[in-house]
Amino acid sequence: MFFFFTCGSADFSGQISGYEGLRVVCPHCHNAAVTAIKRRTFFTFCFIPLVPIKWGKELRCTICQYHQSTTDEQLEQMANGGPGGAMLK
Ligand SMILES: [Zn+2]
Repeated sequence: MFFFFTCGSADFSGQISGYEGLRVVCPHCHNAAVTAIKRRTFFTFCFIPLVPIKWGKELRCTICQYHQSTTDEQLEQMANGGPGGAMLK
């Protein structure tokens, strides 16, 4: 008998509802290309997602792939153009 099992990880990241239009200037490449995403990475077994490995909200640059984790408060502040909202520190 021979069984072939495949393990890996799958990325189910997606846009955060309410923040789809949010664009922030990237501190790395200085383009207004940073978007807020909901990050969900799963450990997969035979291509079936079983265990979440990473879970949270993240800011990701669509140009240079710079990313950093974020919180609801930070997103709220950026969406409202609060103090320092348009630029990441
Ligand atoms: Zn960038």
